[in-house]
Amino acid sequence: MTIPSENRGLTLINELISSYYRGAKDIAPDRITEREFGVGNFDVKISQRHMSFRNEDELKRYLSLNSVPYVSASSAYYRFPSGRPMEKKGWKGSELVFDLDVTDMDLSCQLKHGKSWICRDCLDAVRNETIKLVYGFLMPDFGFSDNMIEVNFSGNRGYHVHVKEKDILELGPDARREISNYISGSGVDFVEMFPTAGRKGERLVGPKPSDRGWRGKIAKNFLERLDSGIDSLAETGMDRQIAGRLYRKRSLVQLGINNGNWDMVYVKNKSDFWKGIIERQAVTQSDKIDRNVTNDPTHLLRLPNSIHGSTGLIAKKLKSPKELYSFEPMKRAIAFREGFMKIRAHTDHELLMNGQKFGPYAGEIKVPTYVGVYLFLKGLAEIISFN
Ligand SMILES: [Zn+2]
Repeated sequence: MTIPSENRGLTLINELISSYYRGAKDIAPDRITEREFGVGNFDVKISQRHMSFRNEDELKRYLSLNSVPYVSASSAYYRFPSGRPMEKKGWKGSELVFDLDVTDMDLSCQLKHGKSWICRDCLDAVRNETIKLVYGFLMPDFGFSDNMIEVNFSGNRGYHVHVKEKDILELGPDARREISNYISGSGVDFVEMFPTAGRKGERLVGPKPSDRGWRGKIAKNFLERLDSGIDSLAETGMDRQIAGRLYRKRSLVQLGINNGNWDMVYVKNKSDFWKGIIERQAVTQSDKIDRNVTNDPTHLLRLPNSIHGSTGLIAKKLKSPKELYSFEPMKRAIAFREGFMKIRAHTDHELLMNGQKFGPYAGEIKVPTYVGVYLFLKGLAEIISFN
């Protein structure tokens, strides 16, 4: 009997997942007995929820026996995590969580490869956004420290950040919304940032990098752009000619902004010009967080160190937030390192995994298992054989 090739691929991947969980380490989240779990299949990421496990062995056994391709756990702690409906669970508190995903970003590489493909630039961009969230907001503005923050690669195209500080656990949806609004810059008053705007003959006074909160971020971010060059300035929506003029006189502009003076170079309609640039900048800087996830204390998120069924990668838990600076998911989150696969693949772009380039492909090819699994799960390859 010939097994249809799609089923052959899935059977094989089920075996790989099963064996991953048999040997998996550090799968249990802290306070495992108080968490709600949800599991899914290759069609639906959460097909069953309200589950609970007593310990890591029980969880591993379940995931291995059922070859679970997607498993999520609550950011909430409950007295009765499997109770239903939700009101019967006895909510005790929830971590503050942030979900950053590259598909929520607008990147120039996506114009070339579309949103369904993830390239190295995509992964770098979302990692940088996560660094900005942790080191630009959570630590300086909220005072959370390294040991209160857990960062996980999502297993596909983003990162999850969990804040476990005890004072935030009991925050309700309103307080969480306030935090996500602050981080995403909604409600930032741009008029107030330029108090002398529109006053004839007066110098345009604005935010300085040493200011606290959003004011300082806006000034710093603009100075970074100024440093990176004309393209980066033009991305804010300004005319290339003005961008060129600012860039040529950048030491003068820098000196001014460092002292809160945004008037060092002549720009027509200066107040409107700078307000427009800064408003757009705040939006591009902050729209990468899925606010629904942060605002909802009952949300289920990919279980750290579990397999992601859309890639075969591990939703890898970082040792500490600092690891973000060097973390390379396509090396560090590889799960299936052993063996090779013969696949029939059709890909338009180069895949970078484990420091090597694979593809583009049009036909049969032998590749490492993790490459075969990744392309198969992305719907770009059939699996012919495995050894
Ligand atoms: Zn890309």
